[in-house]
Amino acid sequence: MERYGLIGYPLTHSFSAEYFSEKFFREGIINCRYDLFPIDSIDNLLQLIKETKELKGLSVTIPYKQKIIPLLTSIDDVAKNIGSVNTIIIERNENIFLHGFNTDVFGFKESLKPLLKNHHKKALILGTGGAASSVAYVLNKLGIEYLFVSRTKTWLPNTIDYSSLNEDIISTHNLIINATPVGMFPHIMNLPNIPYNYITKDHLLYDLIYNPSETLFLKKGIEKGVTVKNGMEMLYLQAEKSWEIWNKSI
Ligand code: NAP
Repeated sequence: MERYGLIGYPLTHSFSAEYFSEKFFREGIINCRYDLFPIDSIDNLLQLIKETKELKGLSVTIPYKQKIIPLLTSIDDVAKNIGSVNTIIIERNENIFLHGFNTDVFGFKESLKPLLKNHHKKALILGTGGAASSVAYVLNKLGIEYLFVSRTKTWLPNTIDYSSLNEDIISTHNLIINATPVGMFPHIMNLPNIPYNYITKDHLLYDLIYNPSETLFLKKGIEKGVTVKNGMEMLYLQAEKSWEIWNKSI
């Protein structure tokens, strides 16, 4: 039996656990299982790995995406660059070696690329957390300029506050990505505080949220007839990429 799972705290409902259980069933993978491992301190990770001898790989979620980095034997360039790890491979011989990766970047990039048009040259990234860093990394790679929009960290480079969002900024930045939790279930009546009246047909609105599938932010775009995208494909792509990483030799 090969075991996989998710570490984080607290862990209640998890997309990954459902995704991998269904995948194993659908694809007839009978020698694998995926479990939730809610650990209340990252200091408990090595003990968990020692005790769970068949554990081969882990997904990592809040609050450990950064905290796990000092425990790693190696970290891939993408994860190092954005300072966030969501997937680890566990290598065992006499010792335990942990190798860290970030697959959110892959998921976001591959889900965004088919939607991009030549006029998408400038973007607004709402939020300045881990997901926003993954988004910024991808936009850099794609040669798209961006500004972060923040309530609290306007001292960061390339960062403005919500009250600065005027017609000029909204019309020139026609890719807008919500990398905040605003609008996520159960707070589905909330939406990022931007002037939606300046959105034009050339805009592309991308919401990293996947529950609900149509946030109020995306509904505002749909009302204007613009292209919109939710975070579901990104979620599937990052999970599949983790699976690929767990199954390649180190
Ligand atoms: P986070 O660190 O909790 O929050 C991101 C940023 O959102 C914060 O740094 C904050 O930026 C802003 N923010 C938080 N609460 C806000 C509020 N009430 N109003 C306005 N802004 C607020 O979250 P994260 O881990 O980066 O994830 C962000 C979102 O992406 C979540 O909804 C998460 O579920 C989603 N996500 C989806 C995928 C996927 O595969 N689809 C992957 C990763 C994350 P400021 O303080 O600078 O305003």
